[in-house]
Amino acid sequence: MRTPAGTECALYYEDFARGRNVQECRAAREAGSAAWRPEDCAACPVPAVLAANGSPWLAVTIRIPNKRFRTRRRVTATFACSLHGVPLADPNIGCPRCNAEADDLLRAAFE
Ligand SMILES: [Zn+2]
Repeated sequence: MRTPAGTECALYYEDFARGRNVQECRAAREAGSAAWRPEDCAACPVPAVLAANGSPWLAVTIRIPNKRFRTRRRVTATFACSLHGVPLADPNIGCPRCNAEADDLLRAAFE
């Protein structure tokens, strides 16, 4: 779905049909994060990663700074492979173990 910031994001959901007014972010939030607001999408790194990484095992956790003072509110995200239970150093490349298995499958297909 298209976020309020205009990017495509599988974790954003909205429903304005027939008088409904639903906007939500379905990414898991780190404990202690502030509540999500539609304007948080503007600085969120998740849509770009979802566009680059099509893994069905990609687990996304966002963190929204919960600051008392008027500091810059910027969403950060951590990514993990839920199949292998490992955090992803580079979510754009994805899980090294999934990638290695995909390479093995490809190699086997050509043998
Ligand atoms: Zn994996």
